[in-house]
Amino acid sequence: MSDLKVLVVGAGLGGLTLARSLRGHGIDVAVFERDASPWDRPQGYRLHLDADAINAAREVLPAELRAVFEATAQYTEPFTTILTTGLSVIKRLRTQDGYGDVWPRHDGPEIHANVDRATLRQILLAGLENTVHYGRTLERYESTDEGVTAFFTDGSRAHGDVLVGADGIRSAVRGQRAPHCETVDAGITAIYGRLPMAVAEPLVPAEALTDIFTIASDERKVFLGLGSVRFPTSPAEAAERFAPGTPMRDQDDYVVCIVGGRHEFFPNADGAMRTFSGQEFRDIAAETLRDWPSGAADLVRGADPASLFCVEMYTSVPATLDTPVNVTLLGDAIHAMTPTLGRGANVAMRDATLLGRTLSAVADGQLALAEALAAYERDELTTYGFSVVREAARIGEQRMGQNPLPE
Ligand SMILES: Cc1cc2nc3c(=O)[nH]c(=O)nc-3n(C[C@H](O)[C@H](O)[C@H](O)COP(=O)(O)OP(=O)(O)OC[C@H]3O[C@@H](n4cnc5c(N)ncnc54)[C@H](O)[C@@H]3O)c2cc1C
Repeated sequence: MSDLKVLVVGAGLGGLTLARSLRGHGIDVAVFERDASPWDRPQGYRLHLDADAINAAREVLPAELRAVFEATAQYTEPFTTILTTGLSVIKRLRTQDGYGDVWPRHDGPEIHANVDRATLRQILLAGLENTVHYGRTLERYESTDEGVTAFFTDGSRAHGDVLVGADGIRSAVRGQRAPHCETVDAGITAIYGRLPMAVAEPLVPAEALTDIFTIASDERKVFLGLGSVRFPTSPAEAAERFAPGTPMRDQDDYVVCIVGGRHEFFPNADGAMRTFSGQEFRDIAAETLRDWPSGAADLVRGADPASLFCVEMYTSVPATLDTPVNVTLLGDAIHAMTPTLGRGANVAMRDATLLGRTLSAVADGQLALAEALAAYERDELTTYGFSVVREAARIGEQRMGQNPLPE
C-alpha cells in the first residue's frame, strides 16, 4: 500500500470505478456516499456501454467479477434503429455515422453493450463494502498544501492527500472547486419505465431487441425510446457461477421504455410530476402518444407501474477549470450531459480509470500531484468530456428539441 490517501465523494458508477482502480494500484481510498444504502432510490434501468466503459470495467475488475460482467452484458449490434410512429423500421443508423467525433477510439471492432445499471453497480461494489461509507453527505472541504479535509453534514470529517468529487450533477465539490461551472435546464421531461420482455417482444420489431437503442418520434419531437436488456446469464446465476458469495439481486430480461419531449408536452408545471404515482406516469406517457397509431400507447401501457419515474434533463455548460492543487472532479460532477448519445456513464468510467492511473503514477513518485491533476483535467476530463456534452446537446436539439447550450 502506498502512502497516498484518496477521498472520493459519491459512490455512483464513476466513484466506484475509481475506488476499484485505486485499490488495484494498492492506493488507500475511502468513498463517502450520501445515500443510506445502494438501494436507497431508483437509479434507472438499462445503460448503454461502449468501449470507454467496457474497457474501464475490464481494467478495474478482478477476473471473477469481470466474468460476471461479461456473462450479464447484452453485446448489441452497433446501431440505433429509427421507427415510424406505427413502430415499423425506417432505418438503422451506425453509431459512428453523423454523430461527430465523440465515440471512443480503441483497437479492434466497435463494442457496445446494454447492461442493467443495478447489476453493474453491484459488480463494481463487490468487495468494497469496507471502503464505501453510506449515509455521509459532503458539506464542504478545506484544502491546504498539507492535504484536504472533508466535512460531512453529520459533523464527521475525513482527511486525505487528494479529494475527488464524483458526486454527480449537483456536485458539492464542484460548487467549491469550480463554482463558475454551471448546469442548465435542457428543456426536456422524460418518463422512464420497464416493459417485461414477454410484453415487449410481440409488439416491437426484432431490431429493438438486438440494437443499442430504438427510437420513434413525431413532428413535435416527442419520442418513444426502447432499449433491451437480455441477460445471456441471469445476474444471480452469473454471480453464483463466477463469484460465489457476491450479493446480487436477480432480474428478468426487460425492455426500458422512455417517453419524452419538451416540458410543455407534459403536465409538469413547477415540477408537479415529481410527486405522481407510477400509474399516473403510465397514463401520462400513453396520453402523450395519443395521436400515434395505437401500438405505441399499448406498448407503454404494458410497463410495470411500479417501475415508472420521471426525469427532468439538465446539462453542464462547457467551461475551463482553474489549476488544481489537490481537489479534482470526474463524471457528471463536471460534464453532465443529456442521455441522447447514452455516453455519460461511459465518460465517467473513462475519467475514473484515467484518474486512477494518474494517481498511481503520483503514488509511485513518477509525477507531482498538482501537475498530474492539471494534465488529467486539461487533456482528458474537460477536453473529451465537454466535447461529448456539446455533441449530446446538438443531437438532443435535433431529435427532441433540447435547448441549445448557452454561448
Ligand atoms: C435516465 C437516464 C438514462 C441514462 N442512460 C445512460 C446510458 O445508457 N449510458 C450512459 O453512458 N449514460 C447514461 N446516463 C448518464 C449516466 O447515468 C451518468 O452520466 C452517470 O451515472 C454519471 O456517473 P457519476 O458517477 O459521475 O454520477 P452519479 O451516478 O450521479 O453518482 C453520483 C453519486 O454521488 C452521490 N452524492 C451526491 N452528492 C453527494 C454529497 N454531497 N455527498 C456524498 N455523496 C453525494 C449521489 O448520491 C450519487 O450516488 C443516463 C442518465 C439518465 C438520467
